[in-house]
Amino acid sequence: MKREGLDLSGRTVLVTGGAGFVGSHLCDQLLAQGARVDVLDNLSTGFAHNLPAGVGTFWKEDVAAPPDLPPYDLIFHLACPASPPRYQADPVATFRTAVFGTVAMLEEARRHRSRILIASTSEIYGDPLEHPQKETYWGHVNPIGFRSCYDEGKRAAETIATDYSRKYGIDLRIVRIFNTYGPRMDPFDGRVVSNFIRQALAGEPLTIYGDGSQTRSFCYVSDLVEGILRAGRAEALPDPVNLGNPGEFTISELADLLEEVVGHPLRRELRPLPDDDPRRRRPDITRAQELLGWRPEVALRAGITRTIENFLAQKTWDGGSGA
Ligand code: NAD
Ligand code: UDP
Repeated sequence: MKREGLDLSGRTVLVTGGAGFVGSHLCDQLLAQGARVDVLDNLSTGFAHNLPAGVGTFWKEDVAAPPDLPPYDLIFHLACPASPPRYQADPVATFRTAVFGTVAMLEEARRHRSRILIASTSEIYGDPLEHPQKETYWGHVNPIGFRSCYDEGKRAAETIATDYSRKYGIDLRIVRIFNTYGPRMDPFDGRVVSNFIRQALAGEPLTIYGDGSQTRSFCYVSDLVEGILRAGRAEALPDPVNLGNPGEFTISELADLLEEVVGHPLRRELRPLPDDDPRRRRPDITRAQELLGWRPEVALRAGITRTIENFLAQKTWDGGSGA
């Protein structure tokens, strides 16, 4: 497979969820590569000020009920809340977005013969019994728990996308994103990295859920976006691909690292572990390495340092406007 693939210069691209954390970084890179970028986002968890200046049309709409859209060469479909407290706040809306939003974008791709990339998630593996997680693993997911609106919504999105590809021959790519962090995260979205950084800067105790022994693998956002771009540009990508950093850390180790980076001790407060919180998570990225020539480059310490600098510069961590 060619590593460069499609030249994005002059291509028309729609990014759904482009006002969000990952989507806005993706827009930056698409514009840098010469693409003409439009965004569809209802601003439910994203912010208009995240949108880069070069974005063309911005539709403030629900992806599950989109307006009449023009044809696009490529659709990067990211619209969906990603933080557990946010997606659990309205589980019905989350499931609708994950499933009906994906169907709506698949219809766009079918109608206009657009290439489409779907942002899936490591949550489709649930609380995994196989470790690390390869794309061939079918997962271990509770269908009726508090995380199910997201986990099962994304699983259903993968199903319908694959069926559209089989039935209508649409040019599909599915990326399974593992925990990603970096500048422009919403400090109040409740994810562990944004919580810990905000708490450290505000002089509040770090909230550790459970005993802190559960693990996650944290990918810096520029690495993730490079993987998404490679997946979007590749000549073909018939099967889903994991994108994540295989470095695995317990939540307590993440708290230790925060302490080292800020250079002083941080208080910790234990809180109950949320239901169905996965015990372990680490991507096997062999497929991404082989098919896309991709591997993450930013180490956790460097990425956390850059994210803290960004939080400080944006002044959003204490409730400021951050615009
Ligand atoms: P985010 O919440 O920052 O961004 C999501 C964006 O989608 C927001 O701008 C939000 O306003 C928009 N959106 C939500 N529902 C919508 C709807 N119904 N219609 C239109 N727009 C809507 O989250 P993120 O971290 O940037 O995640 C982006 C994508 O990546 C999501 O699909 C998510 O499932 C996936 N993902 C992210 C991570 C991660 O660690 N960040 C991990 C796995 C998967
Ligand atoms: N977590 C934590 N303290 C927090 C927020 C989260 O200990 O303030 C834990 C959470 O229980 C989970 C891990 O950190 O085990 C990652 O949580 P996050 O919400 O970032 O992502 P996800 O659970 O979706 O992987």
